Amino acid sequence: MNKTPRVNINLAEIETNARILKSKCEESGINITGVVKGGAGDLRIVNSIVSGGITTIGDSRIKNIRKMREAGFENEMVLLRLPRLSEIKSLIKYVDISLNSELVTLEGIGREALKQGKIHKAIIMVDVGDLREGVLVKDFMEFMKEALDIDGVEIIGLGTNVGCYGGVLPTPENTKILLDLKEKVKNEYDYDLKVVSGGNTATTILLENDQLPEGINNLRVGEGLIQGTDITHQREIPFLNSNNIKLAAEIIELKEKPSIPTGKTGHDAFGNKPEFKDKGIRKRAILAVGRQDVNVDGMTPILEGVEIIGASSDHLLCDVTEAKRNLQIGSEIEFKLDYGAMLQTMTSDYIYKNYINMA
Ligand SMILES: *Cc1c(COP(=O)(O)O)cnc(C)c1O
Repeated sequence: MNKTPRVNINLAEIETNARILKSKCEESGINITGVVKGGAGDLRIVNSIVSGGITTIGDSRIKNIRKMREAGFENEMVLLRLPRLSEIKSLIKYVDISLNSELVTLEGIGREALKQGKIHKAIIMVDVGDLREGVLVKDFMEFMKEALDIDGVEIIGLGTNVGCYGGVLPTPENTKILLDLKEKVKNEYDYDLKVVSGGNTATTILLENDQLPEGINNLRVGEGLIQGTDITHQREIPFLNSNNIKLAAEIIELKEKPSIPTGKTGHDAFGNKPEFKDKGIRKRAILAVGRQDVNVDGMTPILEGVEIIGASSDHLLCDVTEAKRNLQIGSEIEFKLDYGAMLQTMTSDYIYKNYINMA
């Protein structure tokens, strides 16, 4: 298949990442939740992760989890985004475990679970400083007192998320807060919170450096698993395959042009005022992909000597004067994608999905 623009999805490398991460986590007594939301619930990606031995799957959307259920996946499924009150019925139907931070929601979950003859498992999120979801540490004990009383809900553990909104980095200290809270619940309420979910891809660095406090027994890893990267720490994870999903786009114009526009300039199609440096006449390629498909700031050309110089909604402009390969109309150029750009290409209807190295 050579339709463009397309993502080339290397399933074998994703499967290998699943295998490596699982064994690395197991060595430290950690159960890994394979987070597939970055692949927009793509079933072949889910299948590769499951084939790699990861049994618990996480996604932030019930719609994706439902798709997996309907395709026959019987794995333990975790909903990562706090449930909406309006989706509790399907939550109970399709999801085993959800992350929670609101008592009203938990009460709704309990009522519906009993109605469907089930007990729903919940992990309580604690905000250790990143300021996305989670009960504040000072409110946690009071929260737990009420949460433990809700029929139809089993509180199986607690967890935290850092790095996503505030960019707060995971440290042994902010991760250890969870263990202190677990201990307090044990002492004051005589209740054992079994799961202590320490974080996401950003937290794997603590695991690598042997700094993850003993007692953390779950990590929810998506970016590292699928792309082998850790954007919070701006790195490729050394022991994983990285850039397993790449974007290929096609050249539709190739001409030598000046590097400065001619005429009076206003604002571009996105309201920005572009600036130009005069580099003389340059060889420029226009590729058929644009801002409505992907955030071009998250793209990096793989071919040496290619530089992205701009984009509009449907056109990507590259300076290819120094390209290390002979390019023509119809040639494809491949790009690495950061996590955000990958998400967009996976959810875009305009980007073809091409699976390589399928098991
Ligand atoms: C997305 C998400 C994850 C996975 O994050 P990655 O950075 O992709 O590893 C884990 N936990 C929660 C709550 C999430 O929303």
